[in-house]
This record gives sequence, structure tokens and C-alpha cells, in this order.
Amino acid sequence: MTTFVRPAVAAMSPYVPGEQPQGAGYVKLNTNENPYPPSPRVLDAIHAAVGSDLRLYPDPVAGALRHRAAAVYGVDADAILVGNGSDELLSLLVRAIVAKGARVAYPVPTYSLYDTLVGIEEGVVVNEPYPADFSLPMGLAALDARLTFICNPNSPSGVAVSLDEIRSLAAAAKGVVVVDEAYVDFAASSALSLVREFENVVVLRTFSKSFSLAGIRVGLAIGPKPLIEDIGRIKDSYNVDRLSLVAAEAALDDYDWMRVNVEKIKRTRGVLTAALRERGFAVLDSSANFVLARRPGLDQGETYRQLKARRVLVRHFATPSLADALRITVGTDEEVLALLDALDEIELK
Ligand SMILES: *Cc1c(COP(=O)(O)O)cnc(C)c1O
Repeated sequence: MTTFVRPAVAAMSPYVPGEQPQGAGYVKLNTNENPYPPSPRVLDAIHAAVGSDLRLYPDPVAGALRHRAAAVYGVDADAILVGNGSDELLSLLVRAIVAKGARVAYPVPTYSLYDTLVGIEEGVVVNEPYPADFSLPMGLAALDARLTFICNPNSPSGVAVSLDEIRSLAAAAKGVVVVDEAYVDFAASSALSLVREFENVVVLRTFSKSFSLAGIRVGLAIGPKPLIEDIGRIKDSYNVDRLSLVAAEAALDDYDWMRVNVEKIKRTRGVLTAALRERGFAVLDSSANFVLARRPGLDQGETYRQLKARRVLVRHFATPSLADALRITVGTDEEVLALLDALDEIELK
């Protein structure tokens, strides 16, 4: 069949997101959404914005949001680029940095969207496998990449590596190091301080997980001003819409709302981890809002299907090295009980 697209695009496999069932009635623990609603202030802000200026384009540089975020995160507003989710920022980073044939490094398994984005630009992925404990593999910097991704805490492991390990990588790497901190609010420490220490470090944040706003699509790239300016050069003028901008501003204004939900999720994470271990799963200590539950050497595809038949959705990955694992989002206590009840009905492999 004729194809009208570039060979690299025709050959690539698209990123496969977790299922988003359109009907209700699922206990949905497959895409790391927050089980708690966003701050009521977010809803008020969206309502007010709906009533006002939708005929006008949004602020192309998201000035109000950048200034709020600068105050919250202790950086300059010029150090921040606002994206349509951090996925858009990942895409902009790859498009701006990776020429055809350029090397992009990251330890695996990790967020597989990186593969897709590099494939589109015809870059060359150089992977280094994580060891069993998911500590940062040595030698990432020696891979001599233009761009290195570290997802920290990592998905799907939930494991966080230390700031010192990331600092050593940033010091040794010649190219840009992107620390994808989608889950950092559930962890103990952030790499944000490194963006002042190094000219090649960018930290990505999202409102999708800890702030309960996956539906509005806002992310932040925080980095040294020259690099942030360079990346911003290729963005669409109006990449983030008015409603999303005001929603993210209001979420930052009610930062404590996020912290309270995060603490609840961390408590439930402890309960879930212990209950899965009691049932014979190997579970690494998680610094995120999900856990990776393994039955070493035993494919968990059937467990995934049996759970789905009981209206409980978790994530089972096609990646062979993850076949014996399920990634399970930390929901409410009630959702976790429903998962455990369903698991207890299944004869586990
Ligand atoms: C959820 C997630 C993102 C995407 O965040 P959005 O802001 O919703 O686009 C990026 N990186 C990782 C590792 C994630 O898990």
C-alpha cells in the first residue's frame, strides 16, 4: 500500500496509553490518575473564565501561571516554559534537541513515550537497563547522548534515585539531562535545585498526577533561562488554552489541597504495598502514586484479565521484561480494598 508519510513515521509504533474506558463502573487503577478531586478553587476559576473571555486567544507566554509557579518553586519566571501537559514539553525538547541520527539515552524500563518521540525525529535510542533494585545505572553519561532522560521517580518501578546520583550524571553528561518529575510530589526530594547549578538540566512537572488535573493538560519545564528560551522558540503560539491556564494557577494557589491528597495517597500506598506482599507479590518501595507488583518469572497477563473481568483495571505492559509485573495506581482506600477483594477471588499464577 502507498504511504504518504515519512518512512520513519510509517515504521514506528505509536505510544499506547493506558485504557480510558468510557463507561463508568470500573475501579480504575491503570493510568496513575489521582483518585481525589482537584481543589474547589480550580472549579471556581474555570467557571469564571468560561463566563468571560473565550473569544480571545490565551496569553502565548502564560505569564500569570509562570509568575505563580516561579513563586511556588523558588525559580525565576524566565526559567519556566508552560506546556500542554508535560507530554508536549517532552515533544518540544526532543524536536528542539534531537537531529536525525543523534543519540538519546535513558535507563529502561521507563516511560515508553520517550521511544516514540525519538523515533519521530529519527534519533537513535541508547538504553541502559536498570538493575533489579532500579538504582541509576552507572555509565549513562558515557553513552555520549545529546539528550538523556531520567524519569524520577521512575515509571513503572516507582523507585526514586538520589539527588546526588542525578547531580553526578548532570556533571558528567555533555548533552541535556531532562529529569521527568511527573511523580515527585509523592517522593522525598526533587532535582529542582540542579537547574541553578547546571546549564544543561531541565526538570519537568505536571498538574496531571498530584494536582488531580490530568484532564486539563498543563505541564511545566523548569531550566536555565537560555535553554528554556531555545526550547520555547518552537512551541505553538497558543499551546495552552485559557481554561487550563486559570485552572493551573488556581491549583497552585491551593497548594495545601494537593499536599493533603498526596499524604492520603502515601498512607494508602503503604497499605497497598503491605497487602500485596502478604499475597506473595514482590513490591519495591514506591516513591510515586503507583506500585509495581511482581511475581518473578510468572506472566501476569491472566491476572490483569481476571481483574478486568471483575471491573478492576490495572496496567500490564507488553514489554517482555515486565510480563511478570502489574503496575497498580494507588486509589482511595475503598478502591484498594476492591482490588484486594478481586485478587483474592483469583487463582494467582
Ligand atoms: C503522566 C506522565 C507524564 C505526562 O504528564 P502530562 O502532563 O499529563 O502530559 C509525563 N511523564 C511521566 C513519566 C508520566 O507518568
